[in-house]
Amino acid sequence: MEVLKTLIIGSGPAGYTAAIYAARADLKPVLYTGMEPGGQLTTTTEVDNFPGYPEGVDGPTMMVQLQQQAERFGTEVRLEMIEKVVLSKTEGGVHKAFTASGTELQAKTIIISTGATAKYLGLPSEQRLRGGGVSACAVCDGFFYKGQEVAIVGGGDTAAEEATYLANICTKVTMLVRKGEMRASKAMQHRVNNTPNIDLRYNSEIDEVLGDQVVEGIRIINNQTQETEEILITGLFIAIGHKPNTELFKGQLDMDDSGYIITKGKSTKTNLPGVFASGDVQDKEYRQAVTAAGTGCMAALDAERYLQHIED
Ligand code: NDP
Repeated sequence: MEVLKTLIIGSGPAGYTAAIYAARADLKPVLYTGMEPGGQLTTTTEVDNFPGYPEGVDGPTMMVQLQQQAERFGTEVRLEMIEKVVLSKTEGGVHKAFTASGTELQAKTIIISTGATAKYLGLPSEQRLRGGGVSACAVCDGFFYKGQEVAIVGGGDTAAEEATYLANICTKVTMLVRKGEMRASKAMQHRVNNTPNIDLRYNSEIDEVLGDQVVEGIRIINNQTQETEEILITGLFIAIGHKPNTELFKGQLDMDDSGYIITKGKSTKTNLPGVFASGDVQDKEYRQAVTAAGTGCMAALDAERYLQHIED
């Protein structure tokens, strides 16, 4: 069986940037895209903050271009999932990965760029109306609710940022925070409090999302008084955090309490030799395309140095 120099798992900006660098360093990377080729950015419309695109670029286009750039240098991109890994604990050891169709792969280095997935509340009515007015990305979907009334759930920096973003587009934003305080930074809270069309509701949770085919409203409950209220809205945004896609590596790699892979110091090294992590899977703080791409570059350089070291 062929032993790959570098196997990359994941196809967001981190995975493709790792692939560009690894391919140029002649590591002949093979990249498995997973179920959502291109990752979270494929659900974004306009990306205006990635350097080098003065007019902005839409997310799916950017991901196709990143793939083409990785392939130009010889990356082999495979549209499949890795379902299982058996990671070696010894330096110079060979890591094993198994695809959804049962193929076994062996690799001297693995770069993990499996990203993170938005969390949802888990209400049946919310799940039913995903794509019918329930979204986990205000920046992606807010535009569709221009001039309408919407609600957002969450009290962290993401919710605060997205609430102010929506307030620019929509006539009214009801913001539901389940505790009596927000977790967001003081600066973000200040911004929310100073936006007149954000109606901030503390101790408030969603009991049910109303509507058959599309969102028509929400029934909220005050968790202190148990009082319920119906609010008419057309869009509901969930901003309650993300879950890193690390199920595959549980029990083998060191992770923090939230399941993010822990990397060493300023590197992308994990606790196992030859296994590197880049992008949102190891970053709950910045979560930007450009920072993910930066750590993808670092992972490829770390992998190259590791291979040189074990081959010396
Ligand atoms: P956080 O985990 O920080 O916040 C999640 C929020 O959602 C909390 O208010 C939490 O409430 C609430 N929540 C969680 N589950 C539920 C639920 N089931 N029902 C209702 N509410 C729920 O996630 P963020 O995505 O906001 O931020 C992640 C990280 O990214 C943070 O470190 C943040 O600082 C950073 N970030 C920074 C930005 C910036 O600086 N510009 C922008 C965006 C993010 P509770 O407090 O009660 O647990």
